Amino acid sequence: MQFEQFRYLIPGWLDLLEIMIVAWFFYRVLMFLVGTRAFQILLGLVSIGLIYMVAVQLNFNMITTLLGFVFTYGVFAAIVVFQPELRAILAKLGRSRAIQFLAGDSRSAVADAVADAAERLSRRGTGAIIAIEREVSLSVFVESGTEIHATVSADLLTTIFTPYSPLHDGAVLIRGDNVIGAGCVLPLTQSQVTDKSLGTRHRAALGLSEETDAIVIVVSEETAQITIALHGVFHRDVTPKQVRELMEGAEKEELAPAADPSEASSL
Ligand code: ATP
Ligand code: MG
Repeated sequence: MQFEQFRYLIPGWLDLLEIMIVAWFFYRVLMFLVGTRAFQILLGLVSIGLIYMVAVQLNFNMITTLLGFVFTYGVFAAIVVFQPELRAILAKLGRSRAIQFLAGDSRSAVADAVADAAERLSRRGTGAIIAIEREVSLSVFVESGTEIHATVSADLLTTIFTPYSPLHDGAVLIRGDNVIGAGCVLPLTQSQVTDKSLGTRHRAALGLSEETDAIVIVVSEETAQITIALHGVFHRDVTPKQVRELMEGAEKEELAPAADPSEASSL
């Protein structure tokens, strides 16, 4: 057969598996980068790549030579520039579900702490807003407040929101099992909030949940109710148990059925 020599071109099962693994890897990296500074830099690199290809086609030798230098040394520059992201990706890999499964789950410890804090704050009638980072980075919002590196605990969260404490005003941001910021200002939603009892704190929670995939938990100072904002939707008057369940099962992105289904209101 004349095609015999091309047999190696026919993909086997292992090739398909490899392609799927690589595609999944790229997908995860891109999802991780979306909304970060690195993503913009990546877009910049893609445009330089396109310009390079056009320049090659048109035989623009000077441009291709110069861009050739950029690509050669750019790799080193990229490692330096992306260093925080590379670190975060490796750290995130360590926190991935498969590895967590082996190493014991710290995620549920965080869910416990946040639910416990929400219960205590609600009982005391202390206002609070806590955002839990997921795929989209919340780093830009840390800059609007005070950067913190501390392991999440219910005591820490309740302490931060205690009235007149220097950091009680604004949102607490959580990444993994760390508090990364407090006193942070979140973007207000532009959508019409009809319920007058929902002031700026609730608008900020909704706003962040529209812009990112974060889970935002609000304890109202006025009503002591706990509200969750997720994907631009309010889930009102949830119990601490539901907070924990939502955080643990966040991948499924479903609330446990509310005591009264009409409580979960979208705007
Ligand atoms: P509550 O039910 O607790 O009264 P609310 O939705 O009525 O909440 P306000 O009474 O306006 O909101 O709450 C004001 C508090 O919300 C502020 O003291 C501040 O801590 C917090 N807050 C307001 N705007 C933001 C924002 N953009 N980002 C983070 N926190 C905010
Ligand atoms: Mg208010």
